[in-house]
Amino acid sequence: MASARIATAFTRRSLTHRFAATRTQPRSLFCCQAHQMSTDASSVAARLSSSGFIRSQGFIGGKWTDAYDGKTIEVINPATGEVITNVSCMGARETNDAIASAQEAFVSWSKVTAAERSKCLRKWYDLLMSHKEELGQLMTLEQGKPLKEAIGEVGYGASFVEFFAEEAKRVYGDIIPATLPDRRLFVVKQPVGVVGAITPWNFPLAMITRKVAPALACGCTVVVKPSEFTPLTALAAAELSVQAGIPRGAVNVVMGNASEIGDALLASPQVRKITFTGSTAVGKKLMAGAAATVKKVSLELGGNAPCIIFDDADLDVAVKGALASKFRNSGQTCVCANRVLVQEGIYEKFADAFSKAVKNMKVGHGFTEGAVDVGPLINDAAMHKVESFVQDAISKGAKVLVGGKKHSLGMRFYEPTVLTDIKNEMILAREEIFGPVAPLQKFKTEEEAIRRANDTNAGLAAYIFTTNMQRSWRVSEALEYGLVGVNEGLISTEVAPFGGVKQSGLGREGSKYGIDEYLEMKYICMGNMN
Ligand code: ADP
Repeated sequence: MASARIATAFTRRSLTHRFAATRTQPRSLFCCQAHQMSTDASSVAARLSSSGFIRSQGFIGGKWTDAYDGKTIEVINPATGEVITNVSCMGARETNDAIASAQEAFVSWSKVTAAERSKCLRKWYDLLMSHKEELGQLMTLEQGKPLKEAIGEVGYGASFVEFFAEEAKRVYGDIIPATLPDRRLFVVKQPVGVVGAITPWNFPLAMITRKVAPALACGCTVVVKPSEFTPLTALAAAELSVQAGIPRGAVNVVMGNASEIGDALLASPQVRKITFTGSTAVGKKLMAGAAATVKKVSLELGGNAPCIIFDDADLDVAVKGALASKFRNSGQTCVCANRVLVQEGIYEKFADAFSKAVKNMKVGHGFTEGAVDVGPLINDAAMHKVESFVQDAISKGAKVLVGGKKHSLGMRFYEPTVLTDIKNEMILAREEIFGPVAPLQKFKTEEEAIRRANDTNAGLAAYIFTTNMQRSWRVSEALEYGLVGVNEGLISTEVAPFGGVKQSGLGREGSKYGIDEYLEMKYICMGNMN
């Protein structure tokens, strides 16, 4: 997908041309007047550019760097189709240099005391939070999510930096009772080394900080490859990391030719760990590719989340929870409810209340004044996918309760949709929709709900709504998922382990467990100790 957008010349209306005239604005303007700003996308882009927030080069060894062959790639505002800017389109050579810089920085960063690393991370957190308006606006520009949601993601993304600033000081080892009198046995934990972090477009900041913060906390250095759709937030965050005192070379950002960059990271014996969030197909490729140099791998891949509403659910709680879980980020998260399973006794009532709530959702540009609930989809391919899934379901007998088509705003806006009469042979009953479409399926018994919920290769998030305490435990334990929300649709937090089972991935991110992914355990046996 990315290579199709590689451009050496502007082919679309370019925002950067339009704000060239405003570059003389004082740097402080943006910060002082953020609350009074025009919310029009191009004026936001102009202000971000003049305040230095829009970076277009990669970041290698602490230096802003063009692609060696000068190639660039367009970054497009998904709400308008306008080009925000053109960023460097990098490949293997730049990636190898970024790896070399990360390796060099690792030698010193891994020896810095945990307390010092912690201070740098804390400073990075403070900078991210003090620029949350600008980072949120940048994210709305390149990703499309409503501004309030984008600013919320800055807080969520920054929370990983704060959390791992604290955890940096708690990487403990062990002393093991010796098996012989003259021996002393120790376990120490050490950073794995250079980490390759490949991230998606749906959370342009949080998916990066969730990987980079624990890596830096324990002394690793990183080469980040953000999605080509959303590199700007990553580049802005990298700039703030240097301002925070994190040494140059410890955080590198390369973007462009995804498979070339990925292959270079996989081939390098210096890269000791690959951490990836994205599609299951790419995750499998990376896992296979990591075998050649036996790297550690953690993968956070696709989901197919069931959201189970039992007859005994509190209707208001269930509607609110299902709505939050389904429509967050326009349905473009791997933990979004993909199948809403509703027990027959509450089906009609739930379908009615849920449909009313969905009808009331406001679709719009992320910068629209007032609350917008649903923004655009990321690109045309995402739009075609959602349209084709809905058409397939309708052709096989699904009924449209709400929505079911492109929104009148055009571009990549799709109407929040509720479908009923869903059957297993429909594609959207089996595959991740990644759009604002809620398919309702009826079930009779608890056993049937569990069986259907588990009948998938995915195993990331599941949600259940019930007021029965025993059932909530019983079903939570029976669900083959890494995360379970009970009477709650938004469950992600930096303090809890995030990750899937089955083909949804390997390893956990966030929480006290997340740091282990970046540590090697070393056993030291000391002899002749009498
Ligand atoms: P999505 O379909 O949600 O964009 P992808 O798995 O395609 O998910 O993308 C997630 C991340 O993986 C992005 O940064 C993308 O550029 C990157 N990516 C895609 N293909 C490859 C590849 N062959 N090797 C390494 N990274 C890749």
